[in-house]
Amino acid sequence: MKYYSLNNKNHQVSFEEAVTNGLAPDKGLYFPIEIPKLPQAFFDTIESLSNIEIAFEIIRPYVGNEIPEDELKKIVTETLSFEFPLVKIEENVFSLELFHGPTMAFKDVGARFMSRCIAYFNRNKNQKNIVLVATSGDTGGAVASGFLDVKGVDVVILYPSEKVSDIQEKQLTTLGQNITALEVDGVFDDCQDMVKKAFLDESLKHKNLTSANSINIARWLPQMFYFFFAYKELKKNNKPLVTSCPSGNFGNICAGIIAKKMGLSIQHFVATTNANDTVPRFLENGKYEPKPSIATISNAMDVGNPSNFVRILEMYDHDLTAFEKDFSSYTYNDEETKVAMKEIYTKSNYIAEPHGAVGYLGLIKELKNHPESIGFFLETAHPIKFLDVVEPILKIKLSIPKQIESVLNKEKKSIKISTYNDLKNHLLK
Ligand SMILES: *Cc1c(COP(=O)(O)O)cnc(C)c1O
Repeated sequence: MKYYSLNNKNHQVSFEEAVTNGLAPDKGLYFPIEIPKLPQAFFDTIESLSNIEIAFEIIRPYVGNEIPEDELKKIVTETLSFEFPLVKIEENVFSLELFHGPTMAFKDVGARFMSRCIAYFNRNKNQKNIVLVATSGDTGGAVASGFLDVKGVDVVILYPSEKVSDIQEKQLTTLGQNITALEVDGVFDDCQDMVKKAFLDESLKHKNLTSANSINIARWLPQMFYFFFAYKELKKNNKPLVTSCPSGNFGNICAGIIAKKMGLSIQHFVATTNANDTVPRFLENGKYEPKPSIATISNAMDVGNPSNFVRILEMYDHDLTAFEKDFSSYTYNDEETKVAMKEIYTKSNYIAEPHGAVGYLGLIKELKNHPESIGFFLETAHPIKFLDVVEPILKIKLSIPKQIESVLNKEKKSIKISTYNDLKNHLLK
């Protein structure tokens, strides 16, 4: 498979180049030159396949012959070394739990897949890559864990000081080895801007920088797996499916839409946001006007200018009428999110953390337009990662899973920075 830059269709690269560059030199996001269609037989027999078999079939055309099949199978097997339960919350409403991986966030899937692809590409090379990543919370931990000890890779994580939860901070600042955490005096958008600038900085070319944000195709594409897993479970009900993704950088929802383009039967997508409502406003008034991000209790979605939205528009050839048939986007503030968390807990005895609760709200709203359908929302993180929000709202005490326990008593190590020059000096060191 070749990938082109969304800024220039003629700039085409291999899977390996797209993964190791992260972003095209003209700042465009990479996009596959074609979206493969899966045969109907695949969907007819999907319930007889394991998650690993499903994922392997789906991702194979995107990698092509750049990774041999037995290697790719190994990568997929290691990537999916945990469960993806679909939990019934109410009649026709399900939570797809994506948080059973090592850092308890869905981002484990993409981070584990990407790190293993890079390790494969580096197997005979003597060069070093720097994976540079900006995090609003969960990416940092997942990338740190996914890339720990990967040959030939140094990881540099930028996170906004005091704007991630304690557990998130521990996950990204305590591993050491090839992982460095830079604590930025600013918000997530400042971190993201610095990372983007570094990629375009000629004086850093020799450092082989790449990104592990969802702009990187190897982080982003594996996220389509979840939608197939949910389909496999829900197919027997014989009802159309609606899904709601709590959205920040719009990587998950964009992966869901590519799954639909491959033939997966999902009737409607809802991108549900917190107060960072750039896309819901766009659907209201047709104007795409990013705003600086606002801090909320669902902090991993505090994104003012979602990077993957242009990939979604590309899949609809920028035709808004066709797009709006398949896609809605709703926004909820912190108050509404808290009310939803309480309601889900009292009605269904289910503990949703703030991101999942935002997803739930969007799903319930959209299901009113599709009473004949079944819906699932993505529960993108384990409640423990947001315990300082979840415990007081639900008036409960959460027990600490062992994945989290292992980082809690480790010592935080970060380097404080405030400007792009600080970052550059660090990378040049
Ligand atoms: C990253 C993240 C999101 C947002 O996902 P996108 O793919 O960026 O839209 C939602 N919830 C949690 C917990 C996250 O970590």
